[in-house]
Amino acid sequence: MNVILIRYGEIFLKGHNRKFFENVLQKNINDSLSEFNHELKKISGRFELSGYSVDCEKAIIAKLTKIFGLHSLSAATKIETDYDTIKKECLKINLGKQSFRISANRASKIFPVKSMQINREIGELMLENNPESRVDLHTPDVEIVIDIRENGYTYISTEVIPCVGGMPLGSAGKGLLLLSGGIDSPVAGYFLARRGLTIEAIHFHSYPYTSELAKQKVISLAKTMCDYLGSIRMHFISVTHIQEEIHKKCDGDFMITLLRRMMMRIAESIAKQNEAGALITGESLGQVASQTLQSINATNAVVDIPIFRPLIGFDKQDIMDVAHKIGTYEISIQPYEDCCTVFLPKNPVTKPKIEKVLREEAKLDIDALLNESLQSEEIMLIQR
Ligand code: ATP
Ligand code: MG
Repeated sequence: MNVILIRYGEIFLKGHNRKFFENVLQKNINDSLSEFNHELKKISGRFELSGYSVDCEKAIIAKLTKIFGLHSLSAATKIETDYDTIKKECLKINLGKQSFRISANRASKIFPVKSMQINREIGELMLENNPESRVDLHTPDVEIVIDIRENGYTYISTEVIPCVGGMPLGSAGKGLLLLSGGIDSPVAGYFLARRGLTIEAIHFHSYPYTSELAKQKVISLAKTMCDYLGSIRMHFISVTHIQEEIHKKCDGDFMITLLRRMMMRIAESIAKQNEAGALITGESLGQVASQTLQSINATNAVVDIPIFRPLIGFDKQDIMDVAHKIGTYEISIQPYEDCCTVFLPKNPVTKPKIEKVLREEAKLDIDALLNESLQSEEIMLIQR
């Protein structure tokens, strides 16, 4: 019988919480594979997936490798434990010119042949059957793993496929991601989802200064992230009037600082309404004027909720590499305008002094502007 053995990593370590993590993981796997016939069972520290059509195996593996909390997987043949059957099954493997090693693991000590002897005997048989092949114990092209379990079954596999790792999605509570159309914020969301946070997202627009296409871009970014996240609840908020008011009343060089402070206040309020315990941004120290230590302090100061900035110490190139890997890069570089480019000052302050920020901000009716923005909220459920 064809099965997929699914190993999970870190959640092993979680002592009495282990059951909780395993249950979340089991649900996530079943949700992700809902379009396929399948049966998922937990067996001693890993999952066994069976009952699927072999034609779908590739597609299923592609989905599994994107599930947070999974460490690795192997497509395997499951047979009743019997030495002759094991040999017969191994001999079906065609090695061609590839080198190999046999790695028998005898969890069931009832099985009479010791692992070393299995390795030697089956290795010899393989060589007879594959005259162009050779044994390589250290860096074989193919490692044939023969796993003799205590449940009376043996699993034979030839490949270990790495998965994304991390913690099961939804096992760590919820975070609200500030999702712009840029390269960084989707990557930031990915990293914290990988630590188990369910992600909701908020996007600020300045319609009609920003276009409908800019919004569509953010939707397609969110959709792409759903390969990993399943679904994302998105909140769209207009900051048009806020920007107009800042533009009209305040020192233009403070546009970004003042706008960012408003964004943070709105995000905190949406987070609290939706039971999210943290905000997440794609900020990276020093990358642009709004991400100097002083700027970050100025925006951080207006909220009580923790702000997670997983990219704070990353170089742009590192962030771009991850964006490529998760498939968001090509969408992010589409040239649609972001609200931060509307009324963009020629010389944005890089070291905003808090006294000056407060003086400029005092020219605005903060509460009225916040309420007005919150009223503009539009909610959308994005799914893969
Ligand atoms: P990104 O590539 O994520 O847009 P960036 O390098 O362009 O980042 P900024 O534009 O300074 O940097 O934005 C810093 C962070 O602020 C973003 O990563 C994002 O989390 C948040 N942010 C910026 N603009 C918006 C927006 N229009 N809607 C929601 N969040 C935003
Ligand atoms: Mg941006």
